[in-house]
Amino acid sequence: MNLADLTWPQVQALPHETPVVVPIAALEQHGPHLPLFTDSLLLGELVRRSEQRLRDRVLFAPLMWLGNSEHHLDFPGTLSAAPRSYLELLKDCVRNCLMHGFRRIVLLNGHGGNIVPSQQALFELRQETRDREDLVLLAATYWQLGPSPQEAMPELSQSTMGHACEWETSMMLVIRPDLVGDYASLPEVSREQPLAPAHQAWTTRDRSEAGYLGDPAAANVEKGQFLLDRFTENVVSLLERI
Ligand SMILES: [Zn+2]
Repeated sequence: MNLADLTWPQVQALPHETPVVVPIAALEQHGPHLPLFTDSLLLGELVRRSEQRLRDRVLFAPLMWLGNSEHHLDFPGTLSAAPRSYLELLKDCVRNCLMHGFRRIVLLNGHGGNIVPSQQALFELRQETRDREDLVLLAATYWQLGPSPQEAMPELSQSTMGHACEWETSMMLVIRPDLVGDYASLPEVSREQPLAPAHQAWTTRDRSEAGYLGDPAAANVEKGQFLLDRFTENVVSLLERI
């Protein structure tokens, strides 16, 4: 079900155990070859496919396209909520769901910069609601919900998600090929961080002049179809477990 299609009496009539999914994405630069709305388009597609499978068992809020994209602001077009504003925005949205009686809330994420804020927002809310024993508050990033797709498809050049990379370019070739520019001649940009496993703070400019990380030239439609199927499967099975 889509929250945006329902009336308030319909929402009131839903069982409070119904999982509520708030999809969170971004509008930010995706290299010279992919559109700014890439994360929102890809997550929107996964939500559309998942909703078809789960129908009246799960309630989906409309996708929140404004994300925490401060690290991409050096590139024109990127729109970002500053980290602390974003944290409050997520907390308000989840608080509203709790106020309406829902108990199982999922922030379903499609953008790397939202991972830390979504986890922090739920961490803080859980401390505020510590006496409740009936709450399930989950932050889930779609590409982290299963084993690496490379295990089942060794042709994949990348084992993990990059940015405007092989994986995202492949999936965009499936859902919006009309928006994909020249990717075949782009040289690979390393995703490695020299001081890992320590987490080094970064801006995208520190790591990539053109704005992408990974190997977009390795993208193709077949990989995109495989990744979309795989990620949909992982989202659906998580929501079924809830
Ligand atoms: Zn992206």
